[in-house]
Amino acid sequence: MRGLHLCQPDSRKSCAACCGIYNYVDNRREALSARFAYRTHLFAMVRDGRLSLEAYRDAVRRREDGKRIYHTIYTCEFVGYLNDEATTVGCMLHPLQNEGRDLRVVSFYGRDICEGHFCPSYEKLTSNEASIVIDTIDDWYLYGAVITDIDYVKSFFRRVQDELGEEVLAERVRANIPARACLLNFFELKTTWPFRDTTRPRFGKYYFVGEEYDIDRIDYAALGTPASPWDPVFLSLASYFRSAKEVDVANSLLNVIKDEFIDAYRRHD
Ligand code: SF4
Ligand code: SF4
Repeated sequence: MRGLHLCQPDSRKSCAACCGIYNYVDNRREALSARFAYRTHLFAMVRDGRLSLEAYRDAVRRREDGKRIYHTIYTCEFVGYLNDEATTVGCMLHPLQNEGRDLRVVSFYGRDICEGHFCPSYEKLTSNEASIVIDTIDDWYLYGAVITDIDYVKSFFRRVQDELGEEVLAERVRANIPARACLLNFFELKTTWPFRDTTRPRFGKYYFVGEEYDIDRIDYAALGTPASPWDPVFLSLASYFRSAKEVDVANSLLNVIKDEFIDAYRRHD
């Protein structure tokens, strides 16, 4: 994938997933928003010289609950809001935020790693797939969760395209409000999914036990139901099913969204 800036695509959303924002034990939107609001306010004092970077860091560490889901992934204290509207999140040490001064040398990873890092989505998502996500979501919390979940994005398009018999094209989706609404319904399952596993720490298909992590498997045989064609999506949604009935309901939820999307996409040719 070339030419698209997945981290900061426009002024309506951005991603800071690799800076660890979803790795806080309390990674709900409200909790992250409160962190970022405080940090952004505090960092303004660094910019106008009233506070040193060390004092900023100490204040954030004292105030915030730093508990992480996965201890090995750092949760950077320099993520904040990047605009007054609080629609974009990202690195407050970045030179674009500091009149050209690159302050990332003080960060945990250091300037070179922060500057040079591009997550797998840059390579694995096609420009078409990434464009559709960018065109559909205007919400930093949801955007970061979706643009970094390659399986989630690709699995949906794979199923849709198998039925359509053609590739879903970004330019057609862009001009198609009903199709974009269906897609947004699908992406929003990341925050509304009723079968989310709350029994243990999860990032999508990964679960964690201390410093160890593994990929979850849904045991359809034990549930007495055939494996779902939505299995990769279920895993991305950190699903936990207690019965075959729940799997049925989950399949139906996704089938409805898929069918509505296909219908909208075909009708607005
Ligand atoms: S996870 Fe990927 S898209 Fe998100 S900020 Fe990091 S490099 Fe950018
Ligand atoms: S210093 Fe690095 S890890 Fe921290 S917010 Fe900036 S880019 Fe992210």
